[in-house]
Amino acid sequence: MSAELPSAKTLPPLTPGTLYLVATPIGNLEDITLRALRVLRECDVIAAEDTRRTGQLLKHFEIAKPMVSYFAFNEAKRSEEILERLQRGEKVALVTDAGTPGISDPGERVVRAAVAAGLRVESVPGPCALVAALTASGLPTDEFHFIGFLPHKSGQRRKALEALKTFAGTLALYESPYRIEKLLSELHEVFPTRTVVLARELTKKFEEFLRGTPAELLALVAKRSLKGEFVVLVNGEAEAEADREKNTNSGSVQ
Ligand code: SAM
Repeated sequence: MSAELPSAKTLPPLTPGTLYLVATPIGNLEDITLRALRVLRECDVIAAEDTRRTGQLLKHFEIAKPMVSYFAFNEAKRSEEILERLQRGEKVALVTDAGTPGISDPGERVVRAAVAAGLRVESVPGPCALVAALTASGLPTDEFHFIGFLPHKSGQRRKALEALKTFAGTLALYESPYRIEKLLSELHEVFPTRTVVLARELTKKFEEFLRGTPAELLALVAKRSLKGEFVVLVNGEAEAEADREKNTNSGSVQ
């Protein structure tokens, strides 16, 4: 089977009345795609989570385009405004602060509103912290559960983790740097023997993958203060079970 490689000449112009979900870099500006740049250049307006932040990205790529914020004051009202533009036939590029719009960010609400209104939504895929972390983690990728951010309240967090105790695949979470120690303590309580991977500062200068049990990673965090952005992955129950069996078997041989 031969996949046709389209040249820039054969690419159709943007479609009027379409909401383009444009993924943007999660750190390394080289990760912007050629298509993302074209859509940002050719759209009528860019709907941004934070116009100041997106302004910096546009400046870097020398793109001058009007922007509207869909988040700053009143997300619901702003979503409506975007829908009105689409209904008038405008081509709207939606970007969030980083990564793929709609993954644990306010892009989701705009997309749902556009789909509910019967409007055309197109994906312009690119960077996503979840995918970058999971694929390089060394943990199984065939089955995974993405949780995004846990709730803030301790009881609810604990409950959410407990509910995933028997999930066979890899668990993936987003966490703020301010709560990473808290999360590791919670993981220690619920999943003490599992391998956890901290994917830190992906695509940036200090990118690293830290692997260990929650207790080992807590000890590390106590020694070095870990700053930056994190995706946290937890080895699934299926692998943990296989490890337990291996240990039991090797124990019986000795
Ligand atoms: N839509 C984004 C995506 O596609 O990944 C995620 C937006 S969410 C508001 C931000 C969270 O993503 C951060 O708190 C962190 O957990 C994760 N994240 C974003 N960039 C990252 C990076 N460079 N390294 C590690 N985690 C990152």
